[in-house]
Amino acid sequence: MNLIVSAPSGSGKTTILKKLFEKYPNDFGFSVSATTRAPRKGEENGKDYHFLTPEEFNKRITEEEFLEYEQVYANLYYGTLKSEIERISGEGKYPVFDVDVKGGVNIKKSLGDKALSVFIMPPSIEVLRQRLLNRNTENEDTLKKRLDRAEMEIGYSKFFDKVIINDDLNKAVEEFVKTVEENIF
Ligand code: ADP
Ligand code: 5GP
Repeated sequence: MNLIVSAPSGSGKTTILKKLFEKYPNDFGFSVSATTRAPRKGEENGKDYHFLTPEEFNKRITEEEFLEYEQVYANLYYGTLKSEIERISGEGKYPVFDVDVKGGVNIKKSLGDKALSVFIMPPSIEVLRQRLLNRNTENEDTLKKRLDRAEMEIGYSKFFDKVIINDDLNKAVEEFVKTVEENIF
């Protein structure tokens, strides 16, 4: 089985996935996506992403190496490599796809019953704004972009197998872990 997790930025996806990995440290492996964006400070090639030039990315599209790919932001491409499923499955682990909502819907379409897709929903846009402000990672411009995008992303939640509202963190983690245990193992 494969696990797809998508959410508007700031919904708590990273926090919730971390709890799953704490409970099951050896059962899941993150699919490392390819991207044309530049590495951020501290990011490692092959670990956080496979950082590619636009030419290398295009070559992989032509050679049909992607399960899905997308232009997530202007001129920045992100894609899931088919080879990641083989790599992670080969280690005897369940692949986890941490991708944007459109990518999540596309991977689910490709993998069908072999995947569980989960959407992490913020309680409201206002709460989402507050969490992004508290996280201290955004400026006015990136905050606005993320909130505008969140409205569009929430519209995709109906295409996911399961929607988990992250209001009370402990409850959301409990529901997430239970859903994974029932559907993945
Ligand atoms: P994402 O990975 O979806 O962008 P994060 O996991 O980074 O989101 O969470 C965004 C911020 O909200 C973080 O500062 C996190 O500690 C906080 N957060 C996550 N879940 C909750 C919750 N249920 N209640 C309050 N704050 C939360
Ligand atoms: P960031 O640049 O902040 O790492 O990621 C930006 C967005 O790209 C996030 O919403 C992230 O989920 C999404 N993303 C990362 N990898 C992939 C991928 O392989 N495919 C798709 N469709 N989106 C991805």
